[in-house]
Amino acid sequence: MKATYDYLIVGAGLFGAVFAHEATRRGKRCLVIDKRQHTGGNIYCKEVNGIQVHYYGAHIFHTDNRRVWDYVNRLVEFNRFTNSPLASYGGKLYNLPFNMNTFYQLWGVRTPAEARARIEEERARYAHIGEPANLEEQALKLGGRDIYERLIKGYTEKQWGRAATELPAFIIRRLPFRFTFDNNYFNDRYQGIPEGGYNRLIDALLEGSEVRLGTDYFAHREELDRLADTTLFTGCIDEYFEYCFGRLEYRSLRFDHRVLEDTDNFQGNAVVNYTEREVPYTRIIEHKHFAFGTQPSTVITYEYPDDFAPGKEPYYPVNDARNSALYERYRTLADNCVDVLFGGRLAQYTYADMDDTIEAALQLVDRELDRK
Ligand code: FAD
Ligand code: UDP
Repeated sequence: MKATYDYLIVGAGLFGAVFAHEATRRGKRCLVIDKRQHTGGNIYCKEVNGIQVHYYGAHIFHTDNRRVWDYVNRLVEFNRFTNSPLASYGGKLYNLPFNMNTFYQLWGVRTPAEARARIEEERARYAHIGEPANLEEQALKLGGRDIYERLIKGYTEKQWGRAATELPAFIIRRLPFRFTFDNNYFNDRYQGIPEGGYNRLIDALLEGSEVRLGTDYFAHREELDRLADTTLFTGCIDEYFEYCFGRLEYRSLRFDHRVLEDTDNFQGNAVVNYTEREVPYTRIIEHKHFAFGTQPSTVITYEYPDDFAPGKEPYYPVNDARNSALYERYRTLADNCVDVLFGGRLAQYTYADMDDTIEAALQLVDRELDRK
């Protein structure tokens, strides 16, 4: 008997929504389910006092991928937001990423030549470090002790719940280091936030698909699988295989959202990082600034790093040797599944930005529909 749907898509996040959009556009019938009560996964926004609150953490769309940029711009309009976070340390504010403004604030140096000389002096002290063995060594080699102690160490150790000497070097290698007065956090060519928030993007992607919310795949697995010829699973890969090799580890976060009725501007910037170890949160987000909002009130979110435990949200994969090896074992099982596809940050146990997520979903749906 022919199934009711061509695809059952588990997870109404960005990956599932892009897949659903492309499959629907090419005449396939899709049922999209999510255990949450809303679509969008982690890019979901909740409107509060006319402000789009990034409910699961600040999301800034940035990419160098022209195909992805054109794709999202066909669906929604983007504003001109550029991420230029501040770092707060010892009562002072510093610009990020590390650039001439930061060097001026740290040391009073006014020209690139002065800044380079100062950093070279710092770096010379760590010349004995060859290939950095951990994040601390990488940071000292990149910018010296001053930058490391004030802007990196505390933030990183809070974020990851481990000493910087126990973390891989690559985590901070992606932070730009510039000798211009440019506070743009990203080097990518395209950047912005969808006008009206990310839900508009998700709604456009899910148009034409049937969506069931508050539906956990694992509570109705057999019944749901019977409804479709093929399943796309975007949840946790270890859960899909009933943790048969053990549990993958994650880093979690806790968001404390606060509505401030008596001020229209709390911190004057969308993102302020708190880089001291003693401050328990890593950053405060003021959501209206993502959209140049002029509402009479404001909404801020304190972001606290949190240890992961079953029942908490798995935000960041822990890509250390143990977890990477464990994931590979699950991936082998996944590769051998018939009529089941796996995709997205949880099923692929990866940290993927939104543009990478869209590119990966477009590639998967192309491969899949070419095959059929
Ligand atoms: P998700 O958004 O996690 O969607 C998966 C969905 O599957 C969820 O809705 C979940 O409820 C559902 N699901 C899981 N299990 C089940 C089940 N058993 N039954 C039913 N449903 C299930 N990217 C950027 O480009 N810029 C940023 O600034 C940025 N900031 C980020 C900040 C944070 C704190 C985090 C965590 C990520 C950030 N990202 C950012 C990355 C971005 O969130 C991802 O690229 C994107 O959301 C991944 O989409 P996804 O569909 O793979 O996963
Ligand atoms: N980081 C830091 N100080 C900061 C911001 C970032 O040391 O003020 C380090 C930290 O280790 C973090 C990494 O850089 O995990 C990557 O930061 P990014 O902002 O790219 O990551 P996000 O947390 O937004 O995914």
